[in-house]
Amino acid sequence: MQNLTILGATGSIGRNTLDVAARHPQRFRIFALSANERIDELTQLCLLHRPRYAVVAQAPQAELLAKRLAPGNTEILVGEPGLEYIAAHAETDCVMAAIVGAAGLVPGLAAARAGKKLLLANKEALVMAGPIFMEAVRANRATLLPIDSEHNAVFQCLPDSFSGSLGGHGVRRVLLTASGGPFRDIALDRLHSVTPDEACAHPNWVMGRKISVDSATMMNKALEIIEAHWLFGAAAEQIQVVVHPQSVVHSMVEYADGSVIAQLGNPDMRTPIAHALAHPERIEAGVGSLDLFAIGRLDFAAPDFARFPSLGLGYRALREGGTSPATLNAANEVAVAAFLQRRLRFLGITEVIEAVMNKLPPRPLAALGDVLDADAAARRHAEILVGMETHTP
Ligand code: NAD
Ligand code: MG
Repeated sequence: MQNLTILGATGSIGRNTLDVAARHPQRFRIFALSANERIDELTQLCLLHRPRYAVVAQAPQAELLAKRLAPGNTEILVGEPGLEYIAAHAETDCVMAAIVGAAGLVPGLAAARAGKKLLLANKEALVMAGPIFMEAVRANRATLLPIDSEHNAVFQCLPDSFSGSLGGHGVRRVLLTASGGPFRDIALDRLHSVTPDEACAHPNWVMGRKISVDSATMMNKALEIIEAHWLFGAAAEQIQVVVHPQSVVHSMVEYADGSVIAQLGNPDMRTPIAHALAHPERIEAGVGSLDLFAIGRLDFAAPDFARFPSLGLGYRALREGGTSPATLNAANEVAVAAFLQRRLRFLGITEVIEAVMNKLPPRPLAALGDVLDADAAARRHAEILVGMETHTP
């Protein structure tokens, strides 16, 4: 029996994790859950799963939750210290890191430092703090399993003995597939006026709004390039983005002998979640068989760097190193939030990010403080740029 802590339980990944775990009550016990704002949903989840701990963002929300739950079942904690506590708790066996954005970094790192089995959906943490995060995993013998469908696919296509060196295992390239999002084929002159709802209408996946906008700009793939670098030790030249509109091939690994190994499946996050939860075993995820006859064909194309300037910014941040990926990530978070609040037009997102990267050259990254400083500086600068009327719709 594994005690499971879910950071970001009310989100798309959090709910899918609860769905898979609930199919295997003999394997998983819901030990702790967290939510940011959706207290109604968290209340329902606590009544259903009876976790030992629940974490909310602020004290008033804790009071609200306490009133709704029977006393004695669930202890309620508050804020980042509460998240760190449940991530590193001695009785936690497995942590699902499914908070969106930079807010997930400190609790995710706490799980790594406590040597937990860590299921990482929160790619932003690795993008911001890659070397620090990976060192925490190594030094504390944590087990890091990727939840991002592409990285989970790559993980499945690598040998079981994979030790972090692609060359040492005869790997030539990692081929990261990308759906291309909702604007893969839209007329270029329409892009300046697309709305948040259009950007969030992903053709193949149902996800939170931030990652949905990231998919529309393809910044999601840019973040995933950096994520792949840290997870698999892949240099920028070894990571090829492949546009694949059907989202059936979740990614591939190309070997020195010319073999290409792919992982396929229906686009349903319960597959990578179940894979990581049960690793190295396999369990039922509630996902149906892949109907290849209904799918019929699989298409592949080269990515369009002119339509999606985010891709180039991702490679640039990876090559620059240091604080550059943290700067990229923070500027993106500010720009995406502004776009969702209709304070910035769609094409302004990558313009803001590029301007912030130009303004704030990379600095060496030695400690968490360097990451948090770069994150704060990029947020400040991005907010200033968003406030300038040239970018507003
Ligand atoms: P979501 O918006 O649906 O859920 C986010 C969760 O994080 C919620 O539970 C929310 O309460 C919590 N949260 C948000 N801000 C917080 C804060 N400041 N402090 C504490 N908690 C906070 O997002 P999602 O789609 O589930 O994505 C979660 C993570 O997983 C992201 O990093 C995303 O990139 C990654 N991911 C998601 C998918 C997917 O299919 N949804 C696929 C791959 C990777
Ligand atoms: Mg992905």
